Amino acid sequence: MNTDVIIIGGGISGLATAWWLARAGVSVQVWEADSRPGGKIKSQRQEGYLTEPAASLLMNFRPEVAQLVSEAGLDALKTQRLPQAQRYLLHRGKLQALPMHITGMLTSPLWSLRGKLRLLLEPFIPAGGAEDETVSQFIRRRLGNEMLEKAMEPFIAGTLAADPDLASAGATLPRLTALERRFGSITAGVLTHKLLRRRTACTTDSFSFRGGMSTLINTLARTAGVQVFSNRRVEEIIPNKKGWSVIARTADGERSLDATHVIVATPAPAAANLLSSVDGELAALLADIQYAPLAVLHMGLDRHCVKHPLDGTGFLTPRQEKQPFTGNLWMSSLFCDRTPADKVLLTTYLGGARHPEAAHWNDSRLIDEALRALTPLLNIKGHPEMVRIDRHAQALPLYHGAHLARDHAIAGQLQDLPGLHVEANYRGGVSVRDRIARGQQLAQKIASQLIPTTEKLPGLSLSPRY
Ligand SMILES: Cc1cc2nc3c(=O)[nH]c(=O)nc-3n(C[C@H](O)[C@H](O)[C@H](O)COP(=O)(O)OP(=O)(O)OC[C@H]3O[C@@H](n4cnc5c(N)ncnc54)[C@H](O)[C@@H]3O)c2cc1C
Repeated sequence: MNTDVIIIGGGISGLATAWWLARAGVSVQVWEADSRPGGKIKSQRQEGYLTEPAASLLMNFRPEVAQLVSEAGLDALKTQRLPQAQRYLLHRGKLQALPMHITGMLTSPLWSLRGKLRLLLEPFIPAGGAEDETVSQFIRRRLGNEMLEKAMEPFIAGTLAADPDLASAGATLPRLTALERRFGSITAGVLTHKLLRRRTACTTDSFSFRGGMSTLINTLARTAGVQVFSNRRVEEIIPNKKGWSVIARTADGERSLDATHVIVATPAPAAANLLSSVDGELAALLADIQYAPLAVLHMGLDRHCVKHPLDGTGFLTPRQEKQPFTGNLWMSSLFCDRTPADKVLLTTYLGGARHPEAAHWNDSRLIDEALRALTPLLNIKGHPEMVRIDRHAQALPLYHGAHLARDHAIAGQLQDLPGLHVEANYRGGVSVRDRIARGQQLAQKIASQLIPTTEKLPGLSLSPRY
């Protein structure tokens, strides 16, 4: 059976793009190597606890993401993040509440007077900075060293597993760097945005789904017009007269199919392997993207065993604290459906670019080290009744080095390969939100080539062929 588009890789990048394509009336198949779609996203129920090995929530401010959620019929299945007020930071061995507003920042004990004064100077710092500036250079230049060490470094390590001394500012903080470029300073940009927000932007909505993030995956995988094939590991992509042939290994032998467009939505190393015979330079650029390993440790405990009120989302650990983990999320305080009654669920992230070796510790060492650190901080008086460990050898792509230049070079190579696309979380953001938004952009481009009338219509609000 013919298809317009074959997507290789059924993670959120592949499935979201497939959803937008199907919505535009384009026939699409997703070929996934694993026995089920979802990639990193794989919600698990264990002893009544709901755990997430990767994305645990969708933090959205993009209208197109809200559109997909709504039109895929997921609004009724959304579970809102509980309105827990605090976010904590480990500071000199104690948990300190992070201020959420600039006024709170000025009174917080986290920053010295000098650090606070440096923060207030931001609007007066001239715009500038090298093209391949790192996150650390950018934040130090605009906001000072304390802001880097007590806010940005733990955020980058905790949410992206990256090292701000190596991460590209433009690729990692595209919105902040754009504010400087457009408005001359972050402060001026934020204030202008606040004024405009009333008219334009979508408010931030943090949510998951009943049954966890896999509910999003399962819903997208069932989209009419999308055929998802699991256990289909693609081994070769070959150009032909009309487009591309894709060849996969399955339990029943080899499968091949032709399509006008092929989207490679696998992690970068797998994409580099697949494309080495198509374009060596493109493959080398993809092979250059590094990944950080992570171990995700979930511990379920009786509520009375944890004396801390857990009145927040959890905490991040700055590098000066010298802890093996980058953060600890209080999942049972984030969502009400994560545990049986009177239990709590704590999820600890170990490894990343900061301590890659910790991701490879054996199970008992991971548990011991985490409990040793968490016990005094959260006043834990017992043992976990549920433990689950998820390991990722390649958890997240690191936007280190000249990542934007590399991405432009990838786009340049693809221009000479019509119908071939490369799209996964190493391009344009790792979050589920960014994956859905980027999927729409790519689907729009492909649909406008396959169905020329789409160019005249706004967004992907087309008359679907299905
Ligand atoms: C610990 C952790 C916590 C996170 N927390 C959040 C969060 O709270 N919120 C958020 O928005 N994001 C979060 N993220 C990020 C987000 O989960 C990932 O960026 C995203 O799920 C990656 O999706 P993807 O489709 O790009 O890649 P993947 O999920 O890696 O999917 C790629 C797919 O390609 C398949 N594949 C590989 N080779 C082949 C082949 N040859 N043939 C066919 N198929 C192949 C793989 O089997 C896989 O299914 C987190 C990530 C991690 C690791």
